[in-house]
Amino acid sequence: MIYLKNSEQIKKMQHAGRITGEALMLAGEAVREGITTAELDHIIRTYIERCGAKPSFLGYGGFPGSACISINDEVIHGIPSKKRHLKEGDIVKIDVGAYIDGFHGDSANTFPVGKISDEAARLIEATKKSFEMGVAAAEKEGARIGDIGAAVNGYVESMGYSTVRKYVGHGVGRDLHEDPSVPNYGTPGRGPRICRGMVIAIEPMVNAGGTGVLEQPDGWTVLTADGKLSAHYEHTVAITDEGALLLTKVD
Ligand code: MG
Ligand code: MG
Repeated sequence: MIYLKNSEQIKKMQHAGRITGEALMLAGEAVREGITTAELDHIIRTYIERCGAKPSFLGYGGFPGSACISINDEVIHGIPSKKRHLKEGDIVKIDVGAYIDGFHGDSANTFPVGKISDEAARLIEATKKSFEMGVAAAEKEGARIGDIGAAVNGYVESMGYSTVRKYVGHGVGRDLHEDPSVPNYGTPGRGPRICRGMVIAIEPMVNAGGTGVLEQPDGWTVLTADGKLSAHYEHTVAITDEGALLLTKVD
């Protein structure tokens, strides 16, 4: 069931989205060699709670952190740890959610640690660009959910990369994960029609190698099956009369 949001609800989601985006930005600014993923998690939790909100991921399905923090070949759902120190050349994905006034925000980005390889930088850039292609597809008159995935995957494959199939974007609202599913692959003209009041997380997960992923024995961390790098970029996007609003974007 897809829950459409009225303008009052979208205003509330803007608030949750702004806190989410600011927490992610603060964590991104703290990314440097030597910092632990637990320290980044602490920055996020502290900020979200100071805003009077709750970290959406904390306790979600038993998840122990406030953010998912995944390094290099870890795709998503990395558990923050005092033992994981970032190293120069790593790429780190930080995925954050904040809940306030009955609604969630959800946003992720991939950050370089110091100087990274040209290859890694190109992957990060392509992932962000594929997100933008997805948003542009969502904004078109009469678009369907399959148009988003087709646009994302088309661009990603044109760059020689692949999108993750097993994990997908989703509706966002009173629940962190609502209908519809928003895959990063698809057939144009297929799937639910995108309409005003829909709020969705568009979130390409892009692998430098194949689409395959593996779940770690910790029950959370997802790795690329071939050990190659993966990048992630996500915003909570509201479809409105004025086009697509990126609720979690702050700058
Ligand atoms: Mg997320
Ligand atoms: Mg999400």
